[in-house]
Amino acid sequence: MSLTNLFATRTEGMKASEIRELLKLLDQPEIISFAGGIPDPALFPREAFARAMARAVSAEAAGTTLQYAQSEGYLPLRRWIVGYMATLGITCTPENVLITAGSQQALDYLGKLFIDPADTALVGWPTYLGALGAFNAYQPRYDRLDPVANRGPAEIAADADAAGGRVKFAYLSADFANPTGVTLDLAEREAVLDMAETLDIAVIEDAAYQALRYSGTAYPPLLAIEMARKGDLEACRTIYCGSFSKTLAPGLRVGWVVAAKPVIGQLVLMKQAADLQTATLNQVVTAEVAEELFDEHVATLRKVYGARLQAMLASLERHMPKSVSWTRPEGGMFIWVHLPEGEDGAKLLERALATEKVAFVPGNAFFADGSNRNTLRLNFSMSDEAAIDAGIQRLARVMDAAGIR
Ligand code: PMP
Repeated sequence: MSLTNLFATRTEGMKASEIRELLKLLDQPEIISFAGGIPDPALFPREAFARAMARAVSAEAAGTTLQYAQSEGYLPLRRWIVGYMATLGITCTPENVLITAGSQQALDYLGKLFIDPADTALVGWPTYLGALGAFNAYQPRYDRLDPVANRGPAEIAADADAAGGRVKFAYLSADFANPTGVTLDLAEREAVLDMAETLDIAVIEDAAYQALRYSGTAYPPLLAIEMARKGDLEACRTIYCGSFSKTLAPGLRVGWVVAAKPVIGQLVLMKQAADLQTATLNQVVTAEVAEELFDEHVATLRKVYGARLQAMLASLERHMPKSVSWTRPEGGMFIWVHLPEGEDGAKLLERALATEKVAFVPGNAFFADGSNRNTLRLNFSMSDEAAIDAGIQRLARVMDAAGIR
């Protein structure tokens, strides 16, 4: 028997991506992969976690750390986050902070919080695939969030209305976005906030890569800009999603949301209903390790990943054919590549795996409508400089064999 005819309609938007099949081939050791989007495990602060873990399960501590805890999150961790947000120009209290199981869970909850079927979500074109995955379960319609909008808010609102819902939020990563590596400048951040004011919608600021800047000067988060405008977090429409996944370790699944109290209050109810709380032990060790070494560890990551980014940019400069262009990020984990019009990244990946054993993610996966097949995402955080240069040379040979000049 099959239960599939009983599945709720919301499952219709939850599809496995076609590229996942191709990426299963990546286990072969001789492949140089720029496909992942993950931190280098050699850089995890393992010893600090081992010490914190041992302390956390000691006889004195285990009564708390192995016990249920409040849904809002472990208070010392929320206090650390309040201090961290202050360094970004955001004044908040622990009541404005919810700890989530990674920022991915926050995206799911925010989809659940805002989207009725047929409501419109404004997203980047391209955007983070996992955000589309999280929102899809709530059956939204997507429209383009362009910092330099090609259609005005009135038109966007009218289209949302005609589709049977309304625009509920804009979702974006302002720093080193996944997949493009692109950062919004101050004017573009202001423009997103202006548009959100006009449309009267929420702004979901995904700051997963925010700490990983390797060069240039940082812009304030959208939430900081909005707070400077309004003087009070409680008046702000921006919801900031942070994560320890790219700075400390993703396996602990610890992230956070900072927002006005009514938003946090409703998210806490969702947290209670979904999983009661984020794992107590993971929150405790995250708080201790963050307290002990966050700044110095992030400085190390910036040095190592920054050198890898420079190596990849230099290698692209040396080896790519004339018709290919790419972004020049100042942080994060990704470079975004444009092939000439009419080329197909998924076909190129097939050829790359078969002939040169080099991998990347075809870019169309990151577009809500699957368009822009002539794009690729390259990850530079997982390979050392030698592998980066060798991999880019392989990629150049694949392009040459495909007639891309
Ligand atoms: N946002 C972006 C832009 C990401 O790239 C990722 C991870 N790939 C996440 C959110 C989710 O990260 P986590 O749940 O580990 O915090």
